[in-house]
Amino acid sequence: MYNTPANFINEQKIWEILEKNKQADFNKIRETLSKASEMKGLNLDDVAALTNISDPEMLSELFNTANKVKETIYGKRLVIFAPLYISNLCANECLYCAFRATNKDIVRSVLSQKKIANEVKTLINQGQKRVLLVAGESYPKQGFQYVLDSIKTIYEVKTDHGEIRRVNVNVAPLKKEEFKQLKDAGIGTYQIFQETYHRETYNKVHLAGKKRDYNWRAWSLHRAMEAGIDDVGIGVLFGLFDYRFEIMAMMQHIFELEEKFGVGPHTVSVPRLEPATNSDIASHPPFPVSDIDFRKIVAILRLAVPYTGIIMSTRETAKMRRETFALGVSQISAGSKTNPGGYEEKSEDDPSGQFSLGDHRPLDEVIRDVASMGYIPSFCTACYRLGRTGSDFMDLAKPGDIKLHCGPNALSSFKEYLQNYASEETNEVGGKLIHKTINDMSGLAKQRAEKLIKRVEAGRDDVYC
Ligand code: SAM
Ligand code: SF4
Repeated sequence: MYNTPANFINEQKIWEILEKNKQADFNKIRETLSKASEMKGLNLDDVAALTNISDPEMLSELFNTANKVKETIYGKRLVIFAPLYISNLCANECLYCAFRATNKDIVRSVLSQKKIANEVKTLINQGQKRVLLVAGESYPKQGFQYVLDSIKTIYEVKTDHGEIRRVNVNVAPLKKEEFKQLKDAGIGTYQIFQETYHRETYNKVHLAGKKRDYNWRAWSLHRAMEAGIDDVGIGVLFGLFDYRFEIMAMMQHIFELEEKFGVGPHTVSVPRLEPATNSDIASHPPFPVSDIDFRKIVAILRLAVPYTGIIMSTRETAKMRRETFALGVSQISAGSKTNPGGYEEKSEDDPSGQFSLGDHRPLDEVIRDVASMGYIPSFCTACYRLGRTGSDFMDLAKPGDIKLHCGPNALSSFKEYLQNYASEETNEVGGKLIHKTINDMSGLAKQRAEKLIKRVEAGRDDVYC
């Protein structure tokens, strides 16, 4: 089955629906936005209509609706994580990526388990609790076991106050057996981006290696879910092809997973092409996505899949990141390095990184900025550790009950960060925000938050409900 065409991506249907909804008038858009406000998601026709919005008044209605949905479901929480690049070896030839096999202008490195442990110590000492393990598609002589060993190493590092409590993974598509091993290693989310769902473009930008096989990649989340991985993440690399087509195709992928497995992806990522060493296409994207269209993409996804997390990485500038929090982003990376060993080395935008970063600020500065905007940085990992994953998570999330967990847990994990790792300035901004947030809470959520915060103040780490 997994070598057969991934026919759930139906290109002809996408073009037809986009064409049919090209002239969507104000009434259709308003109807769609009103449907979106019910937070039950959108169908392909609705999404197509929204992708065609260009009128400023309609755009601002779209943004306002996305903001309301985001605040209703997620409140002011923003989950924080850091990527951890363990190796930049790669046998593929993705034209947009500095790690591609023929690029001679980067220094190749594969971190030893000792070096990984050092990177993890640095991250823990910054206050991180969640990492996203990232690697190119070529492993040292141990093969895939290298990835499994690395996950084990990450979980084993402990310091006075901390440890990494959730390891998400973004590595090349695996066989079902390997996905089972990944699950047994205790990962959180398995994440993979199709890059572009448009087959012709896909073939043009992936010149050699296993990644040339569109279908193997497109079916990978099926294999992961069949292997028992409940939380999967999808994404598109925006800039390679028409973003309207890509959103529609990503929706087809989501509907397929929902239909087959009863639950869609846990997260959606929205990377935009960034310059990368020796890559023309990365500096001159064939389908550049403007800032306004990028905000539109985030807002549409927030309405189309209201309960799916949206991830915004440090590819984007601090300004763009700030603007998209209100539109639907629920998870951000912070203080990131994209070269293996980059955390310990403290290198500034190393040319051996995978691409250039838009946001270079250290974690403490990002946290202070986010908190001063009224957002609560959350380092919480409770759901996954309590087995609230996949459809169990969605069942809990949908009626809004998750707020009784996520709200208090975000606050206690933030308090733990402030107490153990923050600068004085950040501690002050964060302390005031926690105080104000608890004052604005009521009922069971407030009781839980107060109780958890007291436990953190008394010196307990890792408390959650
Ligand atoms: N090597 C694996 C793969 O390609 O699936 C997993 C890790 S890869 C390093 C992670 C992601 O980085 C890719 O899926 C791609 O979307 C993104 N990426 C590569 N080059 C990029 C660039 N120039 N700008 C932004 N993102 C890029
Ligand atoms: Fe290798 Fe992934 Fe980069 Fe492609 S995107 S060259 S597979 S690391």
